[in-house]
Amino acid sequence: MKKIPLRKCVACGNMLEKDKLFRLVKDIDGVMLDKSYKFQGRGAYVCKNKECLDLALKKKGLNRSLKQAVSDKVFDSLYMELENDR
Ligand SMILES: [Zn+2]
Repeated sequence: MKKIPLRKCVACGNMLEKDKLFRLVKDIDGVMLDKSYKFQGRGAYVCKNKECLDLALKKKGLNRSLKQAVSDKVFDSLYMELENDR
């Protein structure tokens, strides 16, 4: 059986299989959503649910973890992804 690595959500602090989380990665232009989970660089994770996104937005957990401001545009795309998952 293949073991799926666990990652920690910046909002709730739970360890989850990484495909249950969004990966944000620091890029030269700022922060972007890494759908492939493969981009090089500092990454941060947040659960694929509205509660954790809201919390990450409010408490700036992603900004802290990435040491970089996450733009509203990035958050918009995360919320869009949630809608699409339904
Ligand atoms: Zn979470």
